[in-house]
Amino acid sequence: MDQPVRKGKIIILSAPSGTGKSTIISRLVAMPELHLGFSVSATSRSPRGEETDGREYYFLTPEEFDRRIEAGLFVEWEEVYAGTKYGTLREEVERVTGSGRNLVMDIDVKGALNVKRQFGDSAISIFIKPPCLDTLESRLRGRNTDSEESLRKRIEKAGYEMGFADRFDRSVVNDDLDTAVCEVRDIISVFISE
Ligand code: ADP
Ligand code: 5GP
Repeated sequence: MDQPVRKGKIIILSAPSGTGKSTIISRLVAMPELHLGFSVSATSRSPRGEETDGREYYFLTPEEFDRRIEAGLFVEWEEVYAGTKYGTLREEVERVTGSGRNLVMDIDVKGALNVKRQFGDSAISIFIKPPCLDTLESRLRGRNTDSEESLRKRIEKAGYEMGFADRFDRSVVNDDLDTAVCEVRDIISVFISE
């Protein structure tokens, strides 16, 4: 008899912008034992720096984003910053989990709690904390990708986002990068073996 196809699990990572989520996720995706596939979100913002369509995001016009909301094509979406929407397309979740890989999502705090509610025990939510808000600001500035306006929006929102940490399944502080990567890897290893 054929074995049932194993459906991948969902790992949700959230943190204030600049904490180090993308850095941590790129290390995790390179670990073959975790079988991770990155969930490429759609966004209505324009590409930044070296960002490429279909790699960091699917870059949609605001009109196309709204058309897809109307058509019910998103698992979740949020207006994370005023005037800018981000969302996870249903077909992206299917593409990765349907192939048996575990889906790792980098989404905002509200989207994270929404996905956790929808997927229950098939998903784990992990909040990444910066050591403190000053460190966050210097990381954001050091990344050198955001305008002063975009930096201001992100720093302003960080305190609000930190208030959601207790509603996540787990939280990890990203002070020393190697230590944080190890901690998140261990959490994921246990979760995917359950
Ligand atoms: P996010 O995806 O959460 O917005 P990034 O992964 O882009 O954040 O990280 C923001 C900046 O901080 C990057 O320049 C990254 O190299 C740096 N960074 C990430 N983690 C650490 C760490 N533990 N210590 C020092 N710098 C870090
Ligand atoms: P950035 O513009 O810096 O790439 O991302 C801004 C924020 O949008 C980050 O907090 C990121 O986690 C969030 N984000 C990215 N994709 C999604 C998504 O598909 N859904 C939701 N809800 N948030 C997202």
